[in-house]
Amino acid sequence: MRTTHTLHRASDGFLSFFYPEMCLACETHPRAPGDVLCVRCNGTLPLLNYHRQRENPFTIRFWGRLPLHAGAAMMLFTKDSRVQHLLHNLKYNGQREIGVELGRKFGWMLGQSKAFGKPDVIVPVPLHERKEWMRGYNQSAMFGSGLASSLGVEHLPKAMFRTAYTETQTRKSRIERLQNVRDVFEVRQRERLAGKHVLLVDDVLTTGSTLEACALKILEITGTRVSMATIAIASHF
Ligand SMILES: [Zn+2]
Repeated sequence: MRTTHTLHRASDGFLSFFYPEMCLACETHPRAPGDVLCVRCNGTLPLLNYHRQRENPFTIRFWGRLPLHAGAAMMLFTKDSRVQHLLHNLKYNGQREIGVELGRKFGWMLGQSKAFGKPDVIVPVPLHERKEWMRGYNQSAMFGSGLASSLGVEHLPKAMFRTAYTETQTRKSRIERLQNVRDVFEVRQRERLAGKHVLLVDDVLTTGSTLEACALKILEITGTRVSMATIAIASHF
């Protein structure tokens, strides 16, 4: 077993000497050592400054829906962009380290911001158990683990669970979508969240109905406050 593993790693090294692994955002330049991005993408991704302002285009999306302590997205999602490639590779191509790396970077950015405020605990939006099993991981939990490591806070990837698969949501109104997702999330570790400032994390913010449904469940627990962070925010959906 060990020998096979070693041989496998050795051949990886051999191949990558001739065929360097490509940046998972631009897919044109080789990745920087130990990173998922090339040097160019590392310096030029469309990072947002939302986390520096208490009210911003992310938090505004939740006005009148729930009390949000703070909220921010790391990057702007646009069609056919490097951000879309990153999210696609994270969700559908098994590249879980994208989530961890972006989480580490964003955690560092959040840690610099007084407006954002440090959470006590990080909770990712859960996938349905069967979906997570098929994918091998929850992409939001990968982002959450990176955030937790650079913020130095606890990560609770199993604090919530999803009780049902939901049908595709793109053609429904916001109200219909919310009703559709409202009852599919449950908190499993209530005692771990009581009295805590919870940072709820997801990959992309579109309508916000999923994040809203999860946040409302957390806010039912005594003494909780909720902030949110996502890898990207979509301006059109
Ligand atoms: Zn690149």
